[in-house]
Amino acid sequence: MKIICIGRNYIDHAKELGNQVPEEPLFFLKPDSAVIAKKQPLFYPEFTNDLHYELELVVRINRLGKHIEEKFAHKYYDQIGIGIDFTARDIQQKCKENGLPWEKAKSFDGSAAIGKKWGSKEELNQENIQFELKKNGTTVQLGNSKDMMFSFDKIIAYISQFYTLKIGDLIFTGTPSGVGPVNIGDRLEGFLEGEQLINLAIR
Ligand code: MG
Repeated sequence: MKIICIGRNYIDHAKELGNQVPEEPLFFLKPDSAVIAKKQPLFYPEFTNDLHYELELVVRINRLGKHIEEKFAHKYYDQIGIGIDFTARDIQQKCKENGLPWEKAKSFDGSAAIGKKWGSKEELNQENIQFELKKNGTTVQLGNSKDMMFSFDKIIAYISQFYTLKIGDLIFTGTPSGVGPVNIGDRLEGFLEGEQLINLAIR
């Protein structure tokens, strides 16, 4: 299983980090070892002093495919959920400044939290999926799929030019504005259409 993450898919978030809005999807990978095991906390990594949350809609691939046309992309997933793309922002900033890859800042153990359940594509209105992140009970991110620059189908068509998509692969589709730091002792709760699917302690 691989995790493909889209960056800068929401204009407001690209702007809040001072980034250009991309003309085509920007992506990077996380290994399967990045996923936080069920019911486990996230242990704050010792190599960063600025760990950020990024709540994102996640699509789960259910069919093998390569060079998928956008008009057929909807056949390659039937589940949509949420996940948190944890980012060592201080390290990412250094990588960016030096033109280096982001893996060290994005792909470490514990850098992917995934919701405990999936929503069915049929039951969700893809143009209007609400998702929300609360930190210690206060809403810090409120996103909606209608604000994505690249739709799920566009992303799948684009990525599959480069990668064979396999059953169980996950695509993190980018974060809306409101990203920020977490600290030891914090609790993050992620909601999809009002249902709590992530409840994670930072230790
Ligand atoms: Mg992200």
